[in-house]
Amino acid sequence: MLDVILFVVLLIYVYRRWLAPSIPKSVGRHARREQHRGIESVDTVKCAQCGVYVPRNEATGNGDAWYCCPEHAREARHDGR
Ligand SMILES: [Zn+2]
Repeated sequence: MLDVILFVVLLIYVYRRWLAPSIPKSVGRHARREQHRGIESVDTVKCAQCGVYVPRNEATGNGDAWYCCPEHAREARHDGR
């Protein structure tokens, strides 16, 4: 009986030693890749009208304010902002 328990403990040890460390590593690699992708696309601006974040190249600039679409730029101009 003790042999079986020792065998199971050994199996758990081997599992943790060889299989478990690979899981956080791959998650970390994935997270780093996500972070890297985030840095590449981090150049976003906040729409002064609705507060939505849009990529700067897709945003409409109006002085120092940015808008997600020409409609919001126009609305902001009508609002006097
Ligand atoms: Zn907007």
